[in-house]
Amino acid sequence: MGDEVEKARAAVPENDTIFGKILRKEIPCSFIYEDDQCVAFHDINAQAPVHFLVIPRKPIPQLSKAEDGDEQVLGHMMLVARKLAKENGLSGGFRMVLNDGPDGCQSVYHLHLHVMGGRQMGWPPG
Ligand code: 5GP
Repeated sequence: MGDEVEKARAAVPENDTIFGKILRKEIPCSFIYEDDQCVAFHDINAQAPVHFLVIPRKPIPQLSKAEDGDEQVLGHMMLVARKLAKENGLSGGFRMVLNDGPDGCQSVYHLHLHVMGGRQMGWPPG
C-alpha cells in the first residue's frame, strides 16, 4: 500500500480541517481563484505538471454527505474548474477527481475537486 493510501485510510472526518485553516488564512496559501462560493489553489503534492484543488467555502466534508441544497455550489465548482483548466493551458484535456471516504482515498475531509493535467493520463486509476 502506498503512503498516500495509508494516509487516506487513517484519515478521519473532523470538524475542522487543513482546508478550513487555509480558508480562514491561518495557513499561508496563494489562491489561484476565489469567489463567494469557492476557492482554488495548487496542490502541495502535485501529481501532474498542473494540479490544483477547487474547494467550496462551505465545509461539506465529502460528496456522500452533500445535501440536495448543495447542487448549485457543486455545479459552480465544476465550471470554475473548467475555467481554470483553460487558464492553465490544459487545452488537450485534463483529469478531474473527487475522492470520497476511505475506499476512495480521501485524506482531507473538506470536499475538493482535484484538477490535473499537462501530461498523458492513464486508465484505470489506481
Ligand atoms: P484527498 O486525498 O483528500 O483527495 O486530497 C487531499 C489533497 O490535499 C492531497 O492531494 C494533498 O496533497 C493536498 N493537501 C493537503 N494538505 C495541503 C496543504 O496544506 N496545502 C495544499 N496546497 N494542499 C494540501
